[in-house]
Amino acid sequence: MTEVLEKTVFPIDYRAVCALNQVSAATVKSCKQSIKALETRRYQMDGIVGITYALLTHWSQNDPGKYGLSISFLGQNEHRVLVEEYLPPDIKRFTKEEWEAAPLSERQHGFDPRRKVISLADVLCAECPECHESHPVLEWYRQTYDGPGGDEWLKRHILLCCADVDSPKQIELDRKVSADRF
Ligand SMILES: [Zn+2]
Repeated sequence: MTEVLEKTVFPIDYRAVCALNQVSAATVKSCKQSIKALETRRYQMDGIVGITYALLTHWSQNDPGKYGLSISFLGQNEHRVLVEEYLPPDIKRFTKEEWEAAPLSERQHGFDPRRKVISLADVLCAECPECHESHPVLEWYRQTYDGPGGDEWLKRHILLCCADVDSPKQIELDRKVSADRF
């Protein structure tokens, strides 16, 4: 057993694995439950990190959802907006004329000035069904199928509830599917 494990290149301490096999069934059950709880937590935290990353990089997407997940805040009219507090401090602010004249290599340092920028205080919010506080409504958007017979785009409205910081939740308010970009 030891010899087999020594030949296996795993970033784990096989002695700990062997030790685990010596302990009681009750301890194994308890360990399994702890692992499951940690996996659930990691899955939830990965989700929160992914959403935050998507919000911070939304300004750089010129075709939201086409090349990966797009998550954005919404204005009161439910249109996607950029949020001032989520923009990099050194981002280039183009005028309409500068944007039209700029080569692609320069455009990537900023965003189309026709995109609306609002303050975090002004984003669309909704009451959370879990904690009944008001949270920003986030638009989760991406192309889910790209084929010769037709495309599929999925748009969801979600809330992020962090009332329980140990167990943050994504709450779906609604979802729509379309054959074209929304
Ligand atoms: Zn909540």
